[in-house]
Amino acid sequence: MISIETKIEDIQKIAPAYQKRLKKLGIKTIQDLLFYFPQRYEDFSNILEISKAKKRLGENICIQGRITEIENTHSFKRFMEITEATIEDESGAIKVIWFNQPYLTKNLKEDDFVCLAGKISLGKTGIYLNNPIQEKINGDIENSDLTHTGRIIPIYSETRGLTSRWLRYIIKPLLIILRNQILETLPEEIIKKHKFLSIKEAIWQVHFPDSFEFADAAKARFSFEELFLIQLSVLKEKQKILLKKAPACPMNIELMKKFTESLPFSLTDSQKKCGFQILKDLEKPSPMSRLLEGDVGSGKTVVATMGALNTIKCGYQVAFMAPTEILAKQHFSSISKLLKNFNVTVGLMTSKNYRICTHSVNSEQTEVFEVSRQSLLGDLENGQLDLLIGTHSLIQKTVAFKNLGFAVVDEQHRFGVEQRAKLFNSKKLTPHLLSMTATPIPRTLALTIYGDLDLSLISEMPKNRKQIKTVIVESAQRKEAYNFIEKEVKNGKGVFVICPKIDSKKTKDSALSSMPTSGSFAPQNYSFNSLLINEVKAVKEEYERLSKDVFPDLRITMLYGKMKAQEKEKIMLDFQKGEIDILVSTSVVEVGVDVPRATIMMIEGAERFGLAQLHQFRGRVGRSDAQSYCFLFTTSPDQLNRKRLKALVDSNNGFELAEKDLEIRGPGQLYGAQQWGIPDFAMEGLFNIFLVEKTRASAKEILEKDPLLENYPQLKDRLKNLEKRIHFE
Ligand code: ADP
Ligand code: MG
Repeated sequence: MISIETKIEDIQKIAPAYQKRLKKLGIKTIQDLLFYFPQRYEDFSNILEISKAKKRLGENICIQGRITEIENTHSFKRFMEITEATIEDESGAIKVIWFNQPYLTKNLKEDDFVCLAGKISLGKTGIYLNNPIQEKINGDIENSDLTHTGRIIPIYSETRGLTSRWLRYIIKPLLIILRNQILETLPEEIIKKHKFLSIKEAIWQVHFPDSFEFADAAKARFSFEELFLIQLSVLKEKQKILLKKAPACPMNIELMKKFTESLPFSLTDSQKKCGFQILKDLEKPSPMSRLLEGDVGSGKTVVATMGALNTIKCGYQVAFMAPTEILAKQHFSSISKLLKNFNVTVGLMTSKNYRICTHSVNSEQTEVFEVSRQSLLGDLENGQLDLLIGTHSLIQKTVAFKNLGFAVVDEQHRFGVEQRAKLFNSKKLTPHLLSMTATPIPRTLALTIYGDLDLSLISEMPKNRKQIKTVIVESAQRKEAYNFIEKEVKNGKGVFVICPKIDSKKTKDSALSSMPTSGSFAPQNYSFNSLLINEVKAVKEEYERLSKDVFPDLRITMLYGKMKAQEKEKIMLDFQKGEIDILVSTSVVEVGVDVPRATIMMIEGAERFGLAQLHQFRGRVGRSDAQSYCFLFTTSPDQLNRKRLKALVDSNNGFELAEKDLEIRGPGQLYGAQQWGIPDFAMEGLFNIFLVEKTRASAKEILEKDPLLENYPQLKDRLKNLEKRIHFE
């Protein structure tokens, strides 16, 4: 007996080679197979009389009739096997030609009835039907049940040697026998309210729709279902968090005033508003789950620091986690500075460095000590340390806070439930959590996969900033760009050069190595058009080239992830101090790095980076009142790439760019969306704010009625599976 749970390998009709291909797509059971949805459809539902079909030159049509002759021939000239046939119905006859399918004559014989779908073409010998899809009609031609022709047929994503024809051939009979076994997941009241197809009907219509309306209705139902499940999962998580106890930290208005007055700038209105929202959350006895979102350079650090200071003065500790070592160190030094008048002990912990910074209240003295890991952890555990800044090393088991009250996670988009649990080493109380990101999250996403987080938005930039000028630099303008850079450097400015990859192995055939290695850069006879389009400019190569050939007089240094921590740190410091002019780097400087004297961001092979990433790079400059520039070097003629780069030139606004990215690349690339394993058909739903809002409202309604979903066993089951899927990562 087969059931929807039957494993693919237990279906005899599917040969082992095909079983493997299905497994590669993650299809393990019949159920998985039935939920492998088509990408689109082809409409062959309108069967024409042959005499009429013959008048539709150049069109795709469908006919049916009797084979009056069929035979294989060769075309020696074109090395092709040709199958020729004549088909007739009551209105007339037409010639049919197939190419390279000689096996067809094994199945199709004279006097067989067939249904054919293909293009009407004109050849030397007249009108014919060109290489049509064919399907033999067994039995009654009037009531034939067609699969590949004579209806709207499903077209599946044809990857890895699985044709649509084969999938139709396998899926249809399985659907016929098994679709009644598929249990309804959506609650009755939701189906009624939104007039959805039942799951049994929808699963049939999504594969073999009676009309395009039915196909749409089926897809709408399934998109709703996917997003609805995510909403349920996210909202349930939120409920759970709210039941936990967090340290309530009353807002100390005097202290906050004193802090803002100590800053060398005044906060923007947005910063004030977000700071207030965070301080308000900290007052509550249930844990904050907030996302602080603000474009690069909008000043998130200082806002988080306000919350940190308030928490510390309420007697709790604070953790501040950054994605890279460079960033952790930068935060350590800048946050220590921000807090220098407030008698706060700040620690730094990366995989190799352990430091403590103390300030004495009255003397303006700041001291930084290198300490042992042991001693740092000791101070953390006995509460000597107020604020610990670091990388992911903060969430190791061995790191125990005395009384963690507030955790800030920088540039992490979304800090998972699991990781949060790891920070809970501090037993009784659950710390408040603030995630910070510069990645703009479209509203639809904010309401779905980030739906458990409250959102604070810094919507304006500090007032002193000038708009960064962004330019796409073609090969021919490279020299001009270099001249410009040289001039800026002479004026004391810093330059970033970002290269897509380090240590390219293809040095031999890379066009760079064919560049002249001595003399001045870009001699007259050197043509940049000869650059290979797919060439990857390695940091090392680029460093050598820039320091030898292009800017022999400037101070150039490279920076990449694998360097020793100490070395990286020294380089960043030297760059900050102005002792390095040009920093040639991999994407390690992508997020967070704050070097206000840098005014030029030059990106090699710009087309290789995503829009969001490019915008992040660009955010490394424009951090002072000086005019800054972003040069996008590209040799790619690809239109889509051009479009993305153009979007960057046209907009300095992260939100606009996120929406554009969504438009250009589709939602599949969205950070977070992949983690949820949202199927393609439901991804489209993420574009649709109405759908998203509907799913959220429905999920809320159900959870209010039945928080544990006791009356919805099917939903509960699906949710469990969904949660397994995402926590596997
Ligand atoms: P991001 O939001 O990208 O993390 P940062 O917090 O690193 O931005 O801030 C960027 C720079 O702007 C820092 O040098 C910071 O001191 C400065 N800054 C922050 N707020 C303001 C403000 N209101 N006015 C002027 N400069 C500010
Ligand atoms: Mg930052």
